[in-house]
Amino acid sequence: MVRETRLEASQLVLPLFARGGRKFRRAINAMPGVFQLSPDELLKDARRVFEAGVPAVLLFGIPDRKDAKASGAYAANGIVQQAVKLLKKELPGLYVITDVCLCEYMEHGHCGIVQKDNRGARILNDPTLKLLARTAASHAEAGADMVAPSDMMDGRVHAIRSELDRRGLNEVPIMSYAAKFASGFYGPFREAAESTPRFGDRRSYQMDAGNALEALREVALDVQEGADIVMVKPALAYLDVIYRVKQQFGYPTAAYAVSAEYSMVKAAAANGWIDERAVTMESLLAMRRAGADIIITYAAVEVAKWLAEG
Ligand SMILES: [Zn+2]
Repeated sequence: MVRETRLEASQLVLPLFARGGRKFRRAINAMPGVFQLSPDELLKDARRVFEAGVPAVLLFGIPDRKDAKASGAYAANGIVQQAVKLLKKELPGLYVITDVCLCEYMEHGHCGIVQKDNRGARILNDPTLKLLARTAASHAEAGADMVAPSDMMDGRVHAIRSELDRRGLNEVPIMSYAAKFASGFYGPFREAAESTPRFGDRRSYQMDAGNALEALREVALDVQEGADIVMVKPALAYLDVIYRVKQQFGYPTAAYAVSAEYSMVKAAAANGWIDERAVTMESLLAMRRAGADIIITYAAVEVAKWLAEG
């Protein structure tokens, strides 16, 4: 009765990876229990998620083809758009959030348009905004309940908000990856989303692990630009950032417990070194204690089942 912080299934979001085809289910090596799924298989998993009491999923797409302008990201019949349509038709009560980024759809694996010249390669921030806004709007037109831009380009929340409003999608909220740190904890995800950059890294647009004040400035910009929910990513190594963001802005705050946070627990548990349930529950409770209202985690379904067992 006196416990200050509680964890509930209603606070969880499960990421899912969609790719083309039928009856396709490919296990992600480094993330036991996580799969790339064709829409029909994705629907099966989404049904289990929903029945377990997890209210929301976050969709990522792996397109059949990649190119230099990420056409698959905003194609009306792109993989995410197909998956959203199917989920909203078959499971209308499931809240469907889509990841909005270009890296999975770019042949070079970066989150924006790349210009190469004799000084090397650079990400072009402003031309990228148009493509991100187009992508978000096409997800919303397919039926997405909320869009979640993860690219970290400057000005993208405003660009997306304007485009959504222009197309009459003014009720679709934005969850921005507001403080996304360049992190080694993303390793296993890149196998799942097939989005490893072909050259360079993402440090020109993701944040430095040493900078908490910069994180607050990034969050302030996203709030000004119209973000409805702000996210901190990764979660466990950045609990202080979650805490500061919640204290300073009082905004709905999401924490993304990223792939390696999940994989490390799985690996240690498989070796019998830790108690998977205890460590997972304690970690997620710590994110809640730090101030996260919403937790995005690959363990969402297991956690919901553990919570139901009491
Ligand atoms: Zn990206």
